[in-house]
Amino acid sequence: MIEHVDFLIIGAGIAGASVAYWLAPHGRVVLLERESQPGYHSTGRSAALFMESYGTAQVRALTMASRAFLQAPPAGFSEHPLLSPRGAVFVGTRGQEALLERHWAVLRSVTDRAQRLSPQQTHAMLPVLRAEALIGGVYEPDAADMDVHAIHQGYLRGMRRHGGRLVCNAEVRALSRTGARWRVDAGDATYEAPVVLNAAGAWVDAIAQLAGAEPLGIEARRRSAFVFEPPRDIDTAGWPMAIGADEDWYFKPDAGMMLGSPANADPVPPQDVQPEELDIAMAIHKLEEVSTLVIRRPTRTWAGLRSFVADGDLVGGFDDRLPGFFWVAAQGGYGIQTSAAMGETCAALARGLPVPPHSASFGLTAEMLSPARLRAPATAVRADAQPAH
Ligand SMILES: Cc1cc2nc3c(=O)[nH]c(=O)nc-3n(C[C@H](O)[C@H](O)[C@H](O)COP(=O)(O)OP(=O)(O)OC[C@H]3O[C@@H](n4cnc5c(N)ncnc54)[C@H](O)[C@@H]3O)c2cc1C
Repeated sequence: MIEHVDFLIIGAGIAGASVAYWLAPHGRVVLLERESQPGYHSTGRSAALFMESYGTAQVRALTMASRAFLQAPPAGFSEHPLLSPRGAVFVGTRGQEALLERHWAVLRSVTDRAQRLSPQQTHAMLPVLRAEALIGGVYEPDAADMDVHAIHQGYLRGMRRHGGRLVCNAEVRALSRTGARWRVDAGDATYEAPVVLNAAGAWVDAIAQLAGAEPLGIEARRRSAFVFEPPRDIDTAGWPMAIGADEDWYFKPDAGMMLGSPANADPVPPQDVQPEELDIAMAIHKLEEVSTLVIRRPTRTWAGLRSFVADGDLVGGFDDRLPGFFWVAAQGGYGIQTSAAMGETCAALARGLPVPPHSASFGLTAEMLSPARLRAPATAVRADAQPAH
């Protein structure tokens, strides 16, 4: 038995789920997931922060264009707010004057609510920071915590409401094109569709290889994180997220605990990645160096993959050489916060439509998202690319 659909999406992380949400009202959608549950990989392992100043210019545009949806999703999308106030401070220590200036310039370009903080103001916001080395901070008041589970489940529920179907334990093992259709073997079933969307996260190039497409050169990078007890004598709940100006550490309150990370970006093959003990040890050392936090033992540690292409931008568009093969890839460290604009825009492009007006109003174009940009001979890492993140 072959199941015929209009759009076959591979990967039920945030990338696949969001594009499925916007495609389902317009055709038969099946979303294939290798694992027994969606969100097992990167999507379930993030730091859950929405920050409009983060990433390249393209990423920032996608994030800003996503705010309206995440702030006020349609009725029935979620019972809980998707965003809640947090704020974020890039913290500068001696020698990081130029880095702090750079963050300030970027932040001012995205919001007029940006604040440049003196060392005293930075310390007042985050009293555990060691005052001796502080040179100041850059404060983004509208950075927010995201309820990643609610966002992800909201997309999946919305897809189902329009007749779309999630199939778990369905690893895609073969893709072939006959005439105008793709035939895909996944789990114990076979599907046919004119359009296949490759949203397999760190595995997008492995899927491309099965399909006979040229890989994008995706690089998966391990980032580790951990949860630890907050100091007993201070109320930390209202603290903003604190991020080292060189993005080499961060911490933030997390449901009564603290979440910390060495903000590492270690290239690894796609896998069910685990945190290295050294990552956690280095993070603890760093956090204890910049603050008076005492981290005896993390109560939980984990790692996830952040997947990038050379220019640090996301990729959304049809392959320029393989008909009906659509990429939804390279979500990097921004897949959740960009998911609304990315999902809606990719769904429009996959239907042969232009970039939706709301995303276009933030300067997004099909060319900026297209995989073809990576194949152009003149492709060079752009000045605002952030390959290390
Ligand atoms: C520590 C950490 C902190 C982060 N913090 C933030 C943050 O604060 N804000 C933010 O916006 N983003 C953050 N991110 C990034 C964000 O988590 C990712 O960008 C996003 O989750 C990527 O989603 P995805 O759907 O592309 O990938 P995934 O969630 O990995 O989904 C891809 C899916 O494809 C499936 N798949 C692969 N191969 C096959 C196959 N052959 N057949 C079927 N299915 C297949 C996989 O099983 C997987 O479920 C963070 C990431 C990490 C690791």
